[in-house]
Amino acid sequence: MIIKSDKDIIQNYFEDTSNIRGGHADEVVIPESSSELASFMKEANAGRTPVTVSGGGTGTTGSRIPFGGAVVSMERLNRTIDVSAAKMSATVEAGVLVEELKDSAEGRGLFYTSHPTEKTAFIGGTIATNASGARSFKYGPTRKYVKRLKMVMADGEEFELSRGQIFLSKDKHEIKLPSGRVIDIPVPRYRMPNIKSSAGYFWKDCMDAIDLFVGQEGTLSVITEAELGLVTKPSGILSSFVFFKEEEDAISFTEEVKKENALDVLSIEYFDRGAVDTLRGRNKNVPAAALAAIFFEQDVTRKDPDAVMDLWGELISRHNSSLDDTWVAMSEKDSGVFLDLRHSIPDAINDRIKRSGFKKFSTDIAVPGNKFLEMVFYYRQAFNETGLSHTIFGHIGENHLHVNILPGSQKEAEAAKKLSLEFAKKAVSLGGTIAAEHGIGKLKHEYLEVMYGREGMMDMARIKKAFDPNCILGLDNIFPKELLA
Ligand SMILES: Cc1cc2nc3c(=O)[nH]c(=O)nc-3n(C[C@H](O)[C@H](O)[C@H](O)COP(=O)(O)OP(=O)(O)OC[C@H]3O[C@@H](n4cnc5c(N)ncnc54)[C@H](O)[C@@H]3O)c2cc1C
Repeated sequence: MIIKSDKDIIQNYFEDTSNIRGGHADEVVIPESSSELASFMKEANAGRTPVTVSGGGTGTTGSRIPFGGAVVSMERLNRTIDVSAAKMSATVEAGVLVEELKDSAEGRGLFYTSHPTEKTAFIGGTIATNASGARSFKYGPTRKYVKRLKMVMADGEEFELSRGQIFLSKDKHEIKLPSGRVIDIPVPRYRMPNIKSSAGYFWKDCMDAIDLFVGQEGTLSVITEAELGLVTKPSGILSSFVFFKEEEDAISFTEEVKKENALDVLSIEYFDRGAVDTLRGRNKNVPAAALAAIFFEQDVTRKDPDAVMDLWGELISRHNSSLDDTWVAMSEKDSGVFLDLRHSIPDAINDRIKRSGFKKFSTDIAVPGNKFLEMVFYYRQAFNETGLSHTIFGHIGENHLHVNILPGSQKEAEAAKKLSLEFAKKAVSLGGTIAAEHGIGKLKHEYLEVMYGREGMMDMARIKKAFDPNCILGLDNIFPKELLA
């Protein structure tokens, strides 16, 4: 086990993309095996030392940023144990990069679909946040692919759990660990929305116990290894940027694409005027008049690419764009260039926010499909009224846009904070979620309270205490640590 305590060296572990400042810890512990981690956790638990688990540090909510105690970094638990076409699954340690798993799977004609586009995210981090990505439009979030987890619990006990092994309900809510310790999970009262969400602990009546550990943000256990489901890799993917002169056209285009059964769409992503300007800064061929764009990927495995392109062409022209204002990639290499370009947008926004020195005001709201347009009009009206600088982009196919408010002064930062809360309230009133894929971390407690009330957060605190009675893991993630008192 490697232990680092030099302040200059460990400084990197006190950041992610949330811009939360002031993180600190006494040491960073880097286990090289699950048993090393187990011994460390036993000691930490006995000494009541707070432990923050660190993955790749690409999170957006400050959840890997420690405020005291020790950091456990998973970077050395990074072996790919098995990638099996016969089982359509991969077994990897938690510190494996998602990008690496994706490449190993693709080398065998398989696909790991849960990819948050950020190349340095770890598998453990994506499970702990229930990450999604552009392709979750077709494939769903990380949760769907988690078949088995190996974990070290807060007291150092090692525990392996497979999907289908334990079910939880309001009448049966116990998990028995190998030592015989029984964790009696207090049944929460909140109800999750019926859309993609990573807002706090997953709870449904008659649920698989493994789902409680997906999206737990390092508060219930340390995940050391996972078996993950894979799918067959499409033999061909057509990807495209379509540019529009009006944001409305991009939105109405998407609404129609979602209803079009003849297509096999993997992802549909939206970029507003600000995001298109960012693209323009990276590629001079972006049409001069473009004020919005859609990026999509289409599986052409069982389709004639020309016929598919004709259909897209019709849709594109029906919504006031044309093939002249459309870029198409057919080869894997060109698609890779498009994916990098798509990824450069959140990267550029994060850089801009970092330079501004203000905390991030970036929403992760998703709403039910029939409420999406109402949410979009609400955003538009709010920005017309406040004049705040903003950029909107993201997973429009799943009614999930990231609204980034970009304040340039303290006054604007205060207005941005207020507006973000208004957006959260509106989304919840429409049956939406305030965290569709990034989790809550230390940044979004207030919005989680809008969603589930103080009572719901207290229920989550009770669940955490059942697993971690000494309250050492991931403090202040999901809910304020004061609720554990
Ligand atoms: C440019 C950019 C684009 C992004 N796009 C997307 C996107 O499209 N979709 C999306 O979902 N996310 C996206 N993200 C967010 C981010 O990549 C995800 O949240 C990712 O899942 C975080 O993984 P990580 O390894 O970096 O975790 P970290 O940031 O290190 O940690 C995140 C949380 O996971 C916990 N954790 C980490 N490892 C473990 C473990 N082994 N056991 C228990 N808990 C653990 C930490 O304690 C923390 O609570 C993006 C980020 C950036 C910077």
